[in-house]
Amino acid sequence: MFDNKIVLVTGGSRGIGKAVGLEFAKTNATVLINYTSSDDAANKAIEEMKKINPNGTFESFKFDVSNYQETENEIKHILDKYSKIDILVNNAGITRDSLFMRMKESQWDEVFEVNIKGIFNCTKSVVRSMVKNQYGKIISISSVVGEMGNPGQANYSSTKSAIYGFTKSLAKELGSKNINVNAISPGFIETDITDVLPDSIKTKYMEMIPLAKFGLPEDVAKSVLFLASDDSSYITGEVLKINGGLYT
Ligand code: NAD
Repeated sequence: MFDNKIVLVTGGSRGIGKAVGLEFAKTNATVLINYTSSDDAANKAIEEMKKINPNGTFESFKFDVSNYQETENEIKHILDKYSKIDILVNNAGITRDSLFMRMKESQWDEVFEVNIKGIFNCTKSVVRSMVKNQYGKIISISSVVGEMGNPGQANYSSTKSAIYGFTKSLAKELGSKNINVNAISPGFIETDITDVLPDSIKTKYMEMIPLAKFGLPEDVAKSVLFLASDDSSYITGEVLKINGGLYT
């Protein structure tokens, strides 16, 4: 299904991004992952993909999605080397939780720089080539807290709500160019982000989830592949919720 397709996943060295890369590795797609900090984690993710598909093409690119110039340069480098990016998965994201009364300006800014400016930087650097090719799939990872809010996450949940506006506007701009723009809104998924939650909070959320469990990164990854595939070619401007029924 993804023969000759080039996929770029931001924040692809761990958690949901890594699961997305591994899921694509099961197809014939060329998988490029972006990461910022750990070379080791990125190398391990690439090794795991190679184990899944020894004949596949997998490469990691180190850049900070919140830095416009760095992102533009690296994506230009990718486009020079691979000639196109068919599928962009805007997955990189951070939390800097604090009750609003105590929230520092830096905590607000940092989360916006990565979670929203990062999506602008990556999409802006990729979109011209998608328009030229009259083909593209842009999928951004929002969050259930962008829909329902969460104490201590006024910064994070604002960025995740913003992805709704971004997705719906861009879908309207790019539909005529055969570019689908969608988002996925995961609920609580077992990754480093949720690992740090106190047990009392985890228990509280668990009681609110009809399916009575946190999701796995693979649950999100499989839906990313659906939105990246031509099985969903008539879906655009949509936000797919993967939250075990937590918020519908
Ligand atoms: P994670 O912390 O395991 O992964 C986040 C990834 O983003 C990491 O690979 C990290 O290196 C990368 N990243 C952070 N800052 C970056 C930057 N400046 N440039 C490039 N990469 C950067 O968390 P995760 O749970 O896998 O989160 C992935 C996405 O899913 C995030 O956007 C997150 O907000 C969203 N999400 C997660 C959950 C959950 O429960 N885990 C729920 C809803 C949404």
